[in-house]
Amino acid sequence: MPTTDPFDDDKLREECGIFGVVGVTDAANFVTLGLHALQHRGQEAGGIVSHDAEQGFNSARRFGYVRDNFTSQSLMETLPGPLAIGHVRYSTAGSKGPAQIRDVQPFFGEFSMGGAAIAHNGNITNADALRRELIERGSIFQSSSDSECIIHLMARSLQRNIPERMEDALRRVEGAFSVIAMTRTKLIGVRDPLGVRPLVLGRIGDGWALSSETCALDIIGAEYVREIEPGEMVVITGDKVESIRPFRARKPRFCIFEHVYFSRPDSIIGGRSVYETRRQIGVELAREAPVDADLVCPVPDSGTPAAIGYSQETGIPYAMGIIRNQYMGRTFIEPTEQIRNMGVRLKLNVNRALIKGKRVILVDDSVVRGTTSRKIKEMILDAGAAEVHFRIASPPTAWPCFYGVDTPQREKLLAATMSEDEMCAHLQVNSLRFISLDGLYRAVGEAEGRDRKQPQYCDACFSGEYPVEPADMIEKGFKMKTAAE
Ligand code: SF4
Repeated sequence: MPTTDPFDDDKLREECGIFGVVGVTDAANFVTLGLHALQHRGQEAGGIVSHDAEQGFNSARRFGYVRDNFTSQSLMETLPGPLAIGHVRYSTAGSKGPAQIRDVQPFFGEFSMGGAAIAHNGNITNADALRRELIERGSIFQSSSDSECIIHLMARSLQRNIPERMEDALRRVEGAFSVIAMTRTKLIGVRDPLGVRPLVLGRIGDGWALSSETCALDIIGAEYVREIEPGEMVVITGDKVESIRPFRARKPRFCIFEHVYFSRPDSIIGGRSVYETRRQIGVELAREAPVDADLVCPVPDSGTPAAIGYSQETGIPYAMGIIRNQYMGRTFIEPTEQIRNMGVRLKLNVNRALIKGKRVILVDDSVVRGTTSRKIKEMILDAGAAEVHFRIASPPTAWPCFYGVDTPQREKLLAATMSEDEMCAHLQVNSLRFISLDGLYRAVGEAEGRDRKQPQYCDACFSGEYPVEPADMIEKGFKMKTAAE
């Protein structure tokens, strides 16, 4: 699961989680709980919009954790009504400067046929061009967020109702989007034609819920119904769920990294437990990259299920060789330079009594810049380990993501500039092995591995093969993979 502390710049970070409910009393309270369960998808800020027949639309947007903002009775009383949507964000593409409250979603638009609010998870890859066009035609943007383009495109549509205006708007948008929207009476959910980002439907009493992940349905006691399909739009009015197909059908390309890292292990994706998939990744990794050692230890918490799978497959004992301080992130929200220099030691500590004299296999979910891996290796050796072997539950991350995940520039990714052997030498460990792309595909349920002609998932951050051309980034100078690479 993504970390929530301000020290960790060595992980990819999901940028958003979205949640919406209709047909329950005080829907905003349910949205608060749902966003709390999705907090791992974004910790910088959150927002909720609700609608009540008497009081109309109301909204609240705040920086920080959901639990610190949306639990006060006085605030929640300002968000009445049976219909509400919400959003948590890390940061949105296009707003990499200082965080601004005006960039916090959901966004709201007032149209001639009534208001609508939208919450977006993903990234619009042609947002710069759309924004230029909209500004030239008179649109006035309130935020620096790409997602606001959707509201302006809806405002310019000539369709008669809001769902049809959303269809119009989203047909102009390229990239990855899962969107939850609301009008005065409707809850709407949409996934892009490739279904890059997740979105699921749940039933709660006589009402309905839409969520980035199933773990947020669990927290409100909703029953998981199904995934919104790639390219599908659902319009929920009262008890009725209408399914619409606004886009040309395409072969789905769900983000394979959701299986590896972004989603919570207690969520279900594609009918499979994320925890079980991650355990299976560990099994595949053990088959591909065995090594003689005394202990298998996870880099907590995200390496844990894969480490369990690796241990089960090899028979090498599993042990908690590294202990995570769960409260560190809350203690030092604005760390001083002195505390920053203590780095990873504030977050992780080695179980010395266990490690001393042992040959240790460390299982982590990914290597991004490699800075954390190197520090962890030093801590393990300082504790007296005889050998350190890294096993990584994803292929080398050599390309940035442009579909709603915060990634360093390509040259900052360790795997973009080094081979596996060079990375091993750089990290100064006894061995380093990543799961292969085919092994990862097998672990997520594709028995034949990756279909090279028509890959079953988005795996661009590993393969460099982008299912949607990142037009804005190419305009800014990003170089796509060449035939020779
Ligand atoms: S590039 Fe990687 S992180 Fe981004 S959507 Fe594709 S698989 Fe997921």
